[in-house]
Amino acid sequence: MSIYLDHAATTPIHPKVKEAMLPFLEDHFGNPSSIHAYGRTVRQAIDRARDQVAASIHADPGQLIFTSGGTEADNLALIGVAMAMREKGKDRVITTTVEHHAVLDTCQYLEKIGFQVIYVPVDRYGRVQTEELKRAIDDRTAIISVMYGNNEVGTLQPIEEIGQIAKERGVWFHTDAVQALGSEPLDVRKLPVDLLSLSSHKINGPKGVGALYIGRKVPLQPQMHGGMQERRRRAGTENVIGIVGFGQAAELAMANREEHRDTAQRCREAMLETWRQEGISFVVNGHPEHYLPHVLNVSFPGAETETLLMNLDLEGIACSSGSACTSGTLEVSHVLKAMGLPDELLRSAIRFSFGWGNTVEQVTEAAKTVARVVRRLTEQ
Ligand SMILES: *Cc1c(COP(=O)(O)O)cnc(C)c1O
Repeated sequence: MSIYLDHAATTPIHPKVKEAMLPFLEDHFGNPSSIHAYGRTVRQAIDRARDQVAASIHADPGQLIFTSGGTEADNLALIGVAMAMREKGKDRVITTTVEHHAVLDTCQYLEKIGFQVIYVPVDRYGRVQTEELKRAIDDRTAIISVMYGNNEVGTLQPIEEIGQIAKERGVWFHTDAVQALGSEPLDVRKLPVDLLSLSSHKINGPKGVGALYIGRKVPLQPQMHGGMQERRRRAGTENVIGIVGFGQAAELAMANREEHRDTAQRCREAMLETWRQEGISFVVNGHPEHYLPHVLNVSFPGAETETLLMNLDLEGIACSSGSACTSGTLEVSHVLKAMGLPDELLRSAIRFSFGWGNTVEQVTEAAKTVARVVRRLTEQ
């Protein structure tokens, strides 16, 4: 048996996405900036993809910048706005302790070049403490960045509330919605957000492409120079093949959102129910109510993350620790640490994440295997 339960890390390309991309690997090779027919065909394809991605968050196509992925969108949002605001005497950035490294490491960089960054703590479910966030805002605050849904534990943040606070205080608000796209109803006409990051490869699109939504009047200093592409805000010849695939993936994600959520929720419940029946001990990490259904983070007290992952891999189950694996040694997750998990749960946590291709039957089988492995490793 082989089953992929790591959709929060990346997802397979949907056949319809591949189909949409193929002509651009073959006949349509033009440069979208060219005046001639070769160029125009490709320009039209980018325009269409921009419409498709914009529609998935109810934005105007002109408010989207294509990037090389979620990481670049986060970098561009934070550095772009922070640099533009520094000219107005604003040098404070506010974020949380549970952000993706694309935001956290960017904030560290901003600290290095003279910005002050406040990392607001979270509760034991990984929800940001909004009172603390309010207290962190001062007259010099340029931007607040809080992710929509967490990639490690699935916890959803109170984005509307934070957005309102930011608006009242006249501070720009960015959210990393990479994990939320295709799961949550993202509507920038209603959401009080100024900038929002998206990535293609988490929604069955190709890797190396993403987008940043930028609201009107948001000041942004470009980080790439050398051309007039993307309304002068991101220079460089466009990743045409990737952008076309992203457009198709976004359209599919939009159309299948309810079904995707429903399947994820049923897979999640099947997994938990199987473990209950098997009688193994486990603890779910994350918010009991406000969560992304496709992300399930669990600790198996007495077992060790690394050993669990290796044993599950041998059984054909692909899941992850949820945290970045650098130089072969598994670091303890900054998210679980920020949630204040006791050592035993911190060191035995793994993340299962569901997506297109998973079925309840498959996941139930996988859960039985997990139970067997956990029992063996903990001698339960
Ligand atoms: C995957 C991910 C990113 C990074 O996106 P890439 O396209 O891989 O650069 C950023 N934020 C979150 C929450 C993610 O899950």
